[in-house]
Amino acid sequence: MRVGADAAADLGGLAARKDAAGGAGALGRIAAAGESGGAAGPDHRVAQAAGGGGEAVSATDAAARREELVGLYKEVSKCTKCPLHETRTKAVFGAGNADADLMFVGEAPGAEEDLQGLPFVGRAGQLLNELLVEIGLSREAVFICNVLKSRPPNNRDPQPTEIAACEPYLFEQVRLIQPRVVCTLGNFATKLLTGNPTGITRVRGTPQTHELGGRTVFLLPLFHPAAALRTPAVKEQLRADFATIPALIEQALPAPLPSAAEIAAETAPDQDDPPPPADQLGFFGGADTA
Ligand code: SF4
Repeated sequence: MRVGADAAADLGGLAARKDAAGGAGALGRIAAAGESGGAAGPDHRVAQAAGGGGEAVSATDAAARREELVGLYKEVSKCTKCPLHETRTKAVFGAGNADADLMFVGEAPGAEEDLQGLPFVGRAGQLLNELLVEIGLSREAVFICNVLKSRPPNNRDPQPTEIAACEPYLFEQVRLIQPRVVCTLGNFATKLLTGNPTGITRVRGTPQTHELGGRTVFLLPLFHPAAALRTPAVKEQLRADFATIPALIEQALPAPLPSAAEIAAETAPDQDDPPPPADQLGFFGGADTA
């Protein structure tokens, strides 16, 4: 069952064990999950995974995350937190493997996505599918979504208030899906998620480390597939950047970034440090050196 595909949504692969300790085998697990996503339902796959000792705990955790993700999907489907709900046809939650190691994040649904309630279903989506196949993956093995879940009228730029209202859903998706690599598609998603105004042309293809949804991940900025459709050279650059994804998924997860409190503690003077010499205190007018 995928999230975002109405009642028949498929969360295939959630029962697959996600090994947070290292990258080895991650792609294999994605592939295995994709293969098992056919006839058997997700509950069946959970039962299979629960057959082994450690797997049972992981499967339980995965099932709980899937439950939460389905709950989030229902919440987004009827969300009215910003005015975009008044003009959308369907909210577009995102779709794919709810336990994916690889996530793609675009800007907002377009006209066709708005009608179908699914992300990247037009020509840009077809190119995304092709590029995934070229690196040995499929749409069902990854999770694809947008920052905004409802279409801005006439594809206008998202407003800051709309982004503020909607981005918590994205961070919650990252927290629940637990990807290793998040690929931002295009300028908008890249600038927003990196917090950096540098354009996509300069940052694309170089992985960064970011904390999203309380999780430290590799963030890989990529050209938007729609831009690649317009310009053959951009398409080749996008293809070259895609080719780096499998190795990035295999890398061990980045160490968690230090929190603001940890940075402050690092830079604060040590209580056990000896006081500065009296002549230095006097220099700052803090002691009587007479
Ligand atoms: S864009 Fe996001 S916040 Fe606004 S109505 Fe849609 S789901 Fe809700």
